[in-house]
Amino acid sequence: MRYSIHFMIPTGGAALNKMSSGRVRVGILGATGMVGQRFVQLLANHPGFVVTALAASDRSQGKPYGEACTWRLVGDMPAFVKSMVVQSPQPPLDCDVVLSSLPSDIARAAEESFARAGYPVISNASSFRMDADVPLLIPEINSDHLDVLARQRKERGFGDGYIVTNPNCSTIIMALALAPLHTRFGIEAVVATTLQAVSGAGYPGVPSLDVVDNVLPFIDGEEPKMESETRKILGRVGHNNGFENAPFAVSAQCHRVNVADGHMVAVRVKLAKRVSIEEVREALSAYQSVPQELRLHSAPEHPVIVRAEKDRPQPRMDRDAGGGMSVTVGRLFPDNVLDYRFVVLGHNTIRGAAGAAILNGELLQARGLLAGKTAQEKTATSAEVRVR
Ligand code: NAP
Repeated sequence: MRYSIHFMIPTGGAALNKMSSGRVRVGILGATGMVGQRFVQLLANHPGFVVTALAASDRSQGKPYGEACTWRLVGDMPAFVKSMVVQSPQPPLDCDVVLSSLPSDIARAAEESFARAGYPVISNASSFRMDADVPLLIPEINSDHLDVLARQRKERGFGDGYIVTNPNCSTIIMALALAPLHTRFGIEAVVATTLQAVSGAGYPGVPSLDVVDNVLPFIDGEEPKMESETRKILGRVGHNNGFENAPFAVSAQCHRVNVADGHMVAVRVKLAKRVSIEEVREALSAYQSVPQELRLHSAPEHPVIVRAEKDRPQPRMDRDAGGGMSVTVGRLFPDNVLDYRFVVLGHNTIRGAAGAAILNGELLQARGLLAGKTAQEKTATSAEVRVR
């Protein structure tokens, strides 16, 4: 992280409202899950955002977060959330922006109802990712994709609300390594093989009897997501504010492995230009972009770290690089079939999920897109939405 400002955050509602002045008030949907807990952890001392609402399933609703949530991250549950009562993931919530880590099957309706009620929605779920008017945002790569939001708001009748998504966890990690190569040299083909951590499946996720002493060569929906999302992310906004996919094919095979956190992707890439391995290494390690220029709080100084050791990256050693927001590339070599091969690793619940969504929020804030309605206005809009 570039800097870190620590605030004392009291637990009472009135005090929270007072403390939140100047900071964007955040509601977390799916707050008790693996990604939701990361949101809580990463936002506990955030200088620009303060958590003012938590929502989860009816199993948790009405209970204090400290009781509803079994904390599964290293370190203690932040004190400020313990007494906050978990609510239903429906508007109105007392917040300016909604960060969603709901399961995809329920995310679509819930997120749409928040956008319609005037809330910016920043989602981890896959429901809206491939929609033609929804940015699939990685701030280093495609901040210009936010240009489609005007069209989204107008055509969907969202008013002040909108939906921005972050990609699938493995896709984010791979795309961060591909972006500098595509920008500098052009990419013609990508072949990727993942080794994905069990936390990527949420909690309780994959049964231990399936994954201990084993590798599972099937993660439902993961391969098509990597193949299609990568092309949208690295594509551009063309005519009439529509997305044009990057013009190369991606082939992906995905595997679940017996690792707690950290997704690894073995990548082979064919480039449009003949370039030396030194040029490839330099393009990766020198990569910096909009979040670094804007000095966004969660932006790592180096989005891509290149390691020379023959046995890196490794999940335990490298997943927390850059506070979990950098990806680490190693095993960079010329390839006998395509042009180059490398292994890239990143933290799936930080850079692949909660940290990615928070960085998206920081970019939206820097672009002046988080000045939503007041809570009173949202309550009125939500009532209108329910009546309709
Ligand atoms: P998880 O651990 O299973 O958590 C799911 C959360 O959603 C919990 O807070 C749960 O609340 C809530 N929920 C479940 N059913 C609900 C319902 N019917 N109504 C309201 N809330 C409900 O899952 P996760 O790993 O955090 O993943 C959350 C989302 O992020 C998914 O869409 C996933 O695909 C995406 N994602 C995950 C990762 C990752 O690495 N894990 C990475 C990228 C994207 P209760 O505790 O009350 O049941």
